[in-house]
Amino acid sequence: RTKDWDAAIRVIEKIEKAGFEAVIVGGAVRDFLLDKDVNDVDVATSAMPDEIKKIFHSTVDVGIAHGTVLVLDEGQPIEVTTYRTEGIYVDFRRPEQVTFVKSLEKDLERRDFTINAMAMTKTGELIDLYGGRQDIENGLIRAVGDPNTRFREDALRMLRAVRFSAQLGFTIEKNTLSAIVQDSELIEFIAKERIHMELSKMWTAKNVYEGVNALIVSNLANYLIGDFKKQLEDWRYFTTSSSEVGWAYLCLLNRKILSELINFYKLSNKEKNFLRNVLNAYDAFLNRWSELHYFQYDLVTLEVAYDFAVWQKVKVPFKKEHIAQVKSNLPIQSTSQLAINGNHLKEWTTKKGGPWLKVALDAAILAVLKRHIKNDEEHLKEWFLHEFNDEG
Ligand code: ATP
Ligand code: MG
Repeated sequence: RTKDWDAAIRVIEKIEKAGFEAVIVGGAVRDFLLDKDVNDVDVATSAMPDEIKKIFHSTVDVGIAHGTVLVLDEGQPIEVTTYRTEGIYVDFRRPEQVTFVKSLEKDLERRDFTINAMAMTKTGELIDLYGGRQDIENGLIRAVGDPNTRFREDALRMLRAVRFSAQLGFTIEKNTLSAIVQDSELIEFIAKERIHMELSKMWTAKNVYEGVNALIVSNLANYLIGDFKKQLEDWRYFTTSSSEVGWAYLCLLNRKILSELINFYKLSNKEKNFLRNVLNAYDAFLNRWSELHYFQYDLVTLEVAYDFAVWQKVKVPFKKEHIAQVKSNLPIQSTSQLAINGNHLKEWTTKKGGPWLKVALDAAILAVLKRHIKNDEEHLKEWFLHEFNDEG
């Protein structure tokens, strides 16, 4: 039992005292049954949002239009959502409009998968109308109700099925999977940002190989990551706790459609920079590898590029540990550690600033890295006057 869970129980007790129903729902119940640490604990209630706001002193309207009020119970935030169904689905997307309902049954009915459609009372009694517990025991992702209907309501659910299968190591149940195959093209109606979020969660999942395989088997890969069958085996030993690394890996495997992927998913600048660095570092592994490379890239970038080279069966003539060792033994770790900068150079010469400054600084970095000169002002000045100033 986590802090969040205890806070949710206290919240439920207060709502019940005021004469309404309240239960824990969704992912928290699923993770509880899986014996996982439960963090986001969601509470569903028969009380309307304004009634919830009367019961608790401290609340935040985080999603009032959807019936969600954030309750701060002894500082612990708990999302409390009024029982609801969703409005009319248009364009295969989840609607903005919701309708509040009086019964928990109706609320559970709108949820995507049986494992996500359970509720638990404060005393630990399970409300399981769709066989969610059995599906957890059998490791199955099964749509609530008719899968085709559910995916046509909201096509993102297809990708959620794949993502949950990767996170939990579950299999997508047969009828649910064949509905995804039939409806896979509807994924094109879903906003790229939401797809980006689901895939990001998938890259860091425990069973990412199974997830990528499910993308292929379900035909979603066609619309999301291109023709990927050939590269699938490469994912078998891939694990990471950073979604950026997952994106880099995907792009490394798909270099032909790299820029397409970047634009398609509107990758952030941070993701793009990381990607560019990993690609460059990887190319450097393939070509000539020097001190300058260790210097240029951070350790994560180097290690990801190294892993990728190994996956691609490139013969790298040293062990991975070697990278961190070499990196930490460099005379300087970053440009800012160089004892001089452009201002020093300008002081030491009558030349005007210009592109030569960068050329000279790069040369200074290389000379320091190769231990040809010591990294102090005096030695660097002597070196500079000798190497650069004589041209006039
Ligand atoms: P996690 O937060 O670990 O990714 P979760 O199950 O909590 O998993 P959320 O996206 O936080 O997933 O959603 C909370 C609950 O809301 C789900 O468990 C599910 O019952 C319901 N839900 C979320 N998205 C959908 C959807 N697209 N269609 C139907 N129900 C959904
Ligand atoms: Mg959640």
